[in-house]
Amino acid sequence: MPHRPYIVGNWKMNGTRAMLAEARAIARGAARYPDVDIALAPPFTLIGALRAEVSEIGVGGQDCHVAVKGAHTGDVSAAMLADIGADFVILGHSERRKDHGEGDALIRAKAEAALAAGLGVIVCVGETLEERDAGKAEAIVSGQVDGSIPLGDAAAEAVATGKVAVAYEPVWAIGTGRVAAVEDVVAMHAAVRARLVAAYGEAGEKVRILYGGSVNAGNAADLLAAEGVGGALVGGASLTADAFLPIVAAAGAGEG
Ligand code: PEP
Repeated sequence: MPHRPYIVGNWKMNGTRAMLAEARAIARGAARYPDVDIALAPPFTLIGALRAEVSEIGVGGQDCHVAVKGAHTGDVSAAMLADIGADFVILGHSERRKDHGEGDALIRAKAEAALAAGLGVIVCVGETLEERDAGKAEAIVSGQVDGSIPLGDAAAEAVATGKVAVAYEPVWAIGTGRVAAVEDVVAMHAAVRARLVAAYGEAGEKVRILYGGSVNAGNAADLLAAEGVGGALVGGASLTADAFLPIVAAAGAGEG
């Protein structure tokens, strides 16, 4: 099933208010690509300002708590993200799985909380280099999909309306300049699709599967043209309009 390409910038823990100028430049450039869904996930501290200044693209968080509110010092709930104008949240990024010990069950709970708050979700999965070298990549990623995607009635509705995405991000390709081979990306996206159809039935075809891991202007066209790739989750190359917009352009060129 063809999808509108979805290009999402993950700013991670980068960005002060000075970087809002880049977001504005990205939004201005985005206007040239009406057939591409474009979004940025800045740090929590910039979501409100970015939403206020930029209406042409989606704005999201990089994590949320499972609870709506309560005694969770330092955390931010999905309801708070929605309240400040976020459209979606990235969950289960490998840096959160590693740095914060997040596992599949917690990520699923967060995804279900995010949907309950009206947000879209991007659930991240991906194998480490050791897992790939051991021939376990597909089993690991399939298990992460099975364990982390949201389930239940709200999830079924969100899947049907395109609010659930999965990002396949091999851990060894994130921020390293190493990109997965296109044939490996195609194989893994097919494996992820099979798990989504197993979980959601035919509606699982509606979930966009993004590739992430050192995507840049030079490799985006090949990756985005690959079978089953519905977009990209971009870290380092999303921090400036000059680096990010060529990736959006590559997605736009692939359309039609
Ligand atoms: C990411 O943070 O999700 C990511 C893919 O980072 P990078 O593009 O820098 O590898």
